[in-house]
Amino acid sequence: NRQWRLAARPTGEPTHDTFELVEAGVPDPEHGEVLVRTIYQSVDPYMRGRMRDAESYAEPWEPGEPMRAGVVGEVVESRADRFDEGDVVTGDLLWAEYATATATELRRVDPSLAPVSTAVGVLGMPGVTAFHGFMDKGKPQAGDTVVVSAAAGAVGSVVGQLASAMGCDVIGIAGAEEKCDWLTDDLGFDAAVNYEEEDVGRAVAEAAPGGVDVYFDNVGGPVTDAVWPSLNDFARVVACGQISLYNATELPTGPRKLTDAVQKRLKIEGFIVRDYDRWGHALRRLGGLVRDGDLQYREHVIEGFENAPDAFLGLFEGINIGKTLVKVGEE
Ligand code: NDP
Repeated sequence: NRQWRLAARPTGEPTHDTFELVEAGVPDPEHGEVLVRTIYQSVDPYMRGRMRDAESYAEPWEPGEPMRAGVVGEVVESRADRFDEGDVVTGDLLWAEYATATATELRRVDPSLAPVSTAVGVLGMPGVTAFHGFMDKGKPQAGDTVVVSAAAGAVGSVVGQLASAMGCDVIGIAGAEEKCDWLTDDLGFDAAVNYEEEDVGRAVAEAAPGGVDVYFDNVGGPVTDAVWPSLNDFARVVACGQISLYNATELPTGPRKLTDAVQKRLKIEGFIVRDYDRWGHALRRLGGLVRDGDLQYREHVIEGFENAPDAFLGLFEGINIGKTLVKVGEE
C-alpha cells in the first residue's frame, strides 16, 4: 500500500520535493469501518492551502503525515453494516492505494448513473461547488451576463453550462486556445477569452457590451482586476477561489479600493462548499442534467498512483481540461 505524504511545506510553488512516497502497509478496518481500494484519486487546488502552516478552513497537513484527497474506490473488506464488499464508494480518504474509513464518511456511488470517476468531479465536490456557488451566491436571472474564470476547469465548466441553461449570456476566461474552443464549440458559452493571449479587460468589455451581472471568480489576481471595470451596478461577485495567488510568497495588500463596490453597489460573497452539509439536492440536479446530456464534462486522467504529484502540480500550469484525476487502480 503506497501512500503519498507531505515531505516538506513548500515555499512558493510546490515541487516534487514537496511529496514523499512511502510504503505504509494495508490497514485493517475496525468495527464500523471499511477498507477501500482506491480507483481514482482527486487532486484539487485547495490542497495547496493545507500544505501551509496557517489557519484556514481546512486543517493544515503536517510534514511526514499522509495527505487527504477525494477518492473513488471499491470496498474490499467491510466491518460496517451499510457497505458490502464490491460497493463503489467515495469520500475524503488518503493519497493512498488503500485506506480505511468509517461508514459515515462515505457515500455510495451508483455506477449505472455515470462513470464512477464523476463522483469526485461533475457529480462530486466541484459540481456541488459550481451549483451552490452559482445558484445561491450568483443569484442568476435569465438574460444576465455571466463571466467565469478558470472556465475550462472542473468548477468553471459546470458554472458556465448552468448559466447557459438558465438563459444567461456566458463568457469564459481560460488560458489556452483549445480550452476556449471547448467552451464555445461544445459547452454553449457565448464567448471565451484566452487570458494568455488577449487583453482580458478589452475582450470582456467587447463580449459584454451591456456589462457583467455575475462574475464567478476562480482565480483572482490580474484576470479579476481586468474583469472588474465591466461589472454592472448591483453585480454579484462570487468569490469561489483565487488560484493565481495560492503559490504567492508575497500577497498583494488589499482589499483597499472598494470605491467600485460603493458606487456600483456590488455584492461580493465568498463561500466554501463545506458550508453545505447536504449535497443530495445539488447531486440529484447535476445527475439529471448529466443523464439527459445537458451537462457535458471532461476529465484529465493521469495514469498511475506514482504520478499523483504531477497531477497536482499541473493544476497550477493549467494542464487540465475539466476535472483532474489520478487513475490508481482498475475499476
Ligand atoms: P480547475 O479544474 O479549474 O484547475 C485549476 C485551473 O486554474 C487550471 O486548469 C488553470 O486553467 C487555472 N489557473 C491556474 N493558475 C492560474 C493563474 N495563475 N491564473 C489564472 N488561472 C490559473 O480547478 P477546480 O475547478 O477544482 O477549482 C477552481 C477554483 O475553485 C480554485 O480556485 C479552487 O480553489 C476553487 N474551489 C473553491 C471551492 C470552495 O468551496 N470555495 C471548492 C472547490 C474549488 P487555465 O489554463 O485556464 O489557466
